[in-house]
Amino acid sequence: MLEELKKRVIAIAQSAQRDGLCKHKSGNFSMRDPETNYVVITPSGVDRELLTPEDMAVIDLDANVIEYRKGIRPSSEVLMHLMIYKTRPAVMAVAHTHSMYASVFAVLGKEIPAVVYEAMVLGLKTGVIPVAPYGRPGSMELAESVIEPVKISDALLLARHGALAVDEKDIESAYLKANYIEEFAEIYYHVLTVTKGTEPPVFGPEELRAWGYPEEIKFPQ
Ligand SMILES: [Zn+2]
Repeated sequence: MLEELKKRVIAIAQSAQRDGLCKHKSGNFSMRDPETNYVVITPSGVDRELLTPEDMAVIDLDANVIEYRKGIRPSSEVLMHLMIYKTRPAVMAVAHTHSMYASVFAVLGKEIPAVVYEAMVLGLKTGVIPVAPYGRPGSMELAESVIEPVKISDALLLARHGALAVDEKDIESAYLKANYIEEFAEIYYHVLTVTKGTEPPVFGPEELRAWGYPEEIKFPQ
């Protein structure tokens, strides 16, 4: 199981680099093994294209490193991942990026409202992508900063830092959400540019929750 998780997390880390969501080895990705509760996470300082399963770190929820390659440590932001798994035990995967437009709003400390309906996939209980307060990268302060926002959203901005997405199924779904965060941030940025800062109409949490597959579509009995 752990070996399979390592390969899947590597594949997503490489996609994030190729898709432009993570430059210069930034960002980190993890997945939790439901049997052992161990977390498989990308290491710090290794070129994504060169990542092998042996480079991946395995760590338990109390930050005891179970597996690692000598000289290669788990991402320094692993405490933030562990805090999320402890805060929301249903979460199975975490994707953290420093994607450009999301980072612009993170620097501004500005929440991103649901400007397009697809935002419903982000589980925004208050209708916005919330901003976690600033915590120095790698610090316990950063880990604690995500506790409250991750209770109300699957997508967060980390103040003056980047973006983060969680999913209760797998890393592929968390990564899809990371892509959505960046897309919505880009749309919102351009809207604010066109309106010279006037806020556009947004979808509230009730409207976002109301989506359902159309009942008018009839399947063969
Ligand atoms: Zn980061």
